[in-house]
Amino acid sequence: MKFDDYRIADEIKQNLQTAGYKKPTDIQFKAIPPILKGEDVLAIAQTGTGKTAAFAIPVIDIIHKQKVSKRTDGIKCLVMVPTRELAFQITEVFQKIGKHTRVQTYGIVGGVAQDPQIAKLEKGIDILVATPGRMFDLVNQGHIKLTSVHTLVLDEADHMLDLGFIKDIEDVIKYIPKNHQTLFFSATIDEKIKKLAYSLVHKAIRIQI
Ligand code: AMP
Repeated sequence: MKFDDYRIADEIKQNLQTAGYKKPTDIQFKAIPPILKGEDVLAIAQTGTGKTAAFAIPVIDIIHKQKVSKRTDGIKCLVMVPTRELAFQITEVFQKIGKHTRVQTYGIVGGVAQDPQIAKLEKGIDILVATPGRMFDLVNQGHIKLTSVHTLVLDEADHMLDLGFIKDIEDVIKYIPKNHQTLFFSATIDEKIKKLAYSLVHKAIRIQI
């Protein structure tokens, strides 16, 4: 199976080719089809497996196609991550795979000025990659609205638990529509992670690589 065989937008295929991605990695092969179908996914995959593109490719494709068929406003996908570094990395991957599509990805982290972030949010973005602290500040100030989010990605969920972000994860669910798709990625799985995963994703497709 090559990326050319997938029913994804030509722009995305072109970007994957430019990036030198010829065929999907194991996690991508397993995760892309169910994500494209709108299913919840619980994936146990370590960094280095191509896990970022495993959710970036289908999420960008879905939103690109939505925007081709109709004008839509608002944030459609929220990617919550534990660290600034991961936020930067993931934003870069989304921007690379989403080049020349209609999809705008933006990353928000703490420790930098808010104003440029607010200005960017006002212009309209489709995918928000964020660490919890600054995101909730901007939600509480009314600069981030999560009412149109249809896909929630939790990346490195185990790391988020270790850093004490459990309440933030529980809180974010209150801001987004009930019938959203959840993509839960973790490098490890133990009882705590299972408990969190099952509270968020009930009938998820489970992928372990
Ligand atoms: P990640 O696990 O998301 O941190 O990705 C690990 C590395 O694999 C990154 O440097 C990606 O650019 C690269 N990568 C991801 N998917 C593919 C692919 N299908 N073919 C070749 N390289 C890839």
